[in-house]
Amino acid sequence: MSAEWGKISSKEILAAVKGRLVSGDPHARFSGFNSDSRSTVRGELFWALKGDRFDGHDFVSRTVLRGASGVVVQEGFQVSLENPSPTVIIAVNDTLRALGDLAAWWRRQHATKVVALTGSSGKTTTKEMTAAILQMGGETLKNPGNHNNLIGLPVTLLKLEKTHQRAVLEMGMNHKGEIARLTEIANPDVAAILNVGTAHLEGLGNIDGVAEAKTEMMEKLSPEAKIVLNGDDKVLMKHAARFNRDVITFGLAEGNNIRGTHIKNRGSDGMGFDLTFDGNTWPVNLGVSGTHNVKNALAAAAIGLCLNEPPEQIVKGLGVFQGIKGRFQSIPLEKNILLIDDTYNANPSALKAALDSAVPLVHKEGRFIVGLGDMLELGEAAVSAHREAGGRVAASGASWFFAMGSHANDMKKGAIAEGMPSNRIIIAETHDDLTTRMIQEIEPRDTIFLKGSRMMQFEKISEGLQRHFGFQ
Ligand code: ADP
Repeated sequence: MSAEWGKISSKEILAAVKGRLVSGDPHARFSGFNSDSRSTVRGELFWALKGDRFDGHDFVSRTVLRGASGVVVQEGFQVSLENPSPTVIIAVNDTLRALGDLAAWWRRQHATKVVALTGSSGKTTTKEMTAAILQMGGETLKNPGNHNNLIGLPVTLLKLEKTHQRAVLEMGMNHKGEIARLTEIANPDVAAILNVGTAHLEGLGNIDGVAEAKTEMMEKLSPEAKIVLNGDDKVLMKHAARFNRDVITFGLAEGNNIRGTHIKNRGSDGMGFDLTFDGNTWPVNLGVSGTHNVKNALAAAAIGLCLNEPPEQIVKGLGVFQGIKGRFQSIPLEKNILLIDDTYNANPSALKAALDSAVPLVHKEGRFIVGLGDMLELGEAAVSAHREAGGRVAASGASWFFAMGSHANDMKKGAIAEGMPSNRIIIAETHDDLTTRMIQEIEPRDTIFLKGSRMMQFEKISEGLQRHFGFQ
């Protein structure tokens, strides 16, 4: 039982996606799968997908010229091939839907244990922590970066080979129904929901909308699947209760099945905590900072325990994990300056968690300097969320606040309302402007915290500071 590129034929693909063979050999085989026309090579099956900016259908002929052995296109699309070609053409009603169907079929041809995790914050970090644990016990597939949507997740699953003992997949969403569909495709053996927060409010209204969308996962799980939930997240637990299923909880509060206690903040050396499970305790050393990362580690440990990983291996795997670029990375710079680069992404709950984690890292003889970019996709809540963000910066005790983006002024207003002097708040127009003005204010032993949505590209500021100050 194993689907393998090079072995499966058009016929099997047609059956899996309920497609129609427009032309070509039903017994043709493909060396691999590709949905990117630029990297399609001879022998592959090219899948035409419609993205925000490009439509793969525009590149079908080009991939055939590059030697694609087959193409999958939307029903009704005319593939114009200049010469009679041996290429297989498969037509489907919806190429995105069909991609999910193929991935779902592919996954079911493998005995691999699949882990899926979702949540408003911490998905990529927890996925990497989980993979660090599972890799110690056998070959593990994981989605690259944050390829966690209806394209990234199926494409990852199509990389599943029989040597993979496990797969760890994160699931993201920005609208209702997406998590349900992703769960249907991945059919996880272990499913985890990390938290529900105010990310992606645009399509979902409020936090209950987010909770409902995240818990769609539970609706689609097989009855044997194990469910891991953040027991400290009241909104999540309330929404999860309607499914009436056994769950394994993790968290810091008493009563959770997998619990973290005695948390020690070791500054830029990371965190220490005690992992408690079934009446036993194991000390854990995490190479990353922040209480939020202790929670992510507890989720990863809970997933590992569901897959019967020995606790010693879980502790070791968590110790190996060294963080991901731009996710609350503590970077010691010259002159005892500490840069906390959290520029990968931002939403209101992640910002709160990150500020709470950053403040204890501030040197007692130094100051706290914050640089924030806009948080995107907040819909109607955008103005109030940015005001609140500014308020949080003021409440954190920051000495300087640099803001950039179309909501910079809202952040400034929020900070002033919480008592921050306006001459300590600087609105910058460009990355260079922000970096230069920040450098002018930074003194030895200061701690700088940077965060913004992905599109704000705040890593440019982080890189600028690193270039200017150099590493300790
Ligand atoms: P995601 O993949 O869900 O976007 P990441 O793991 O990439 O999450 O982390 C993005 C940012 O979210 C981090 O830099 C950190 O600021 C914040 N974060 C991470 N884990 C948590 C958590 N458990 N709770 C709240 N915020 C978190």
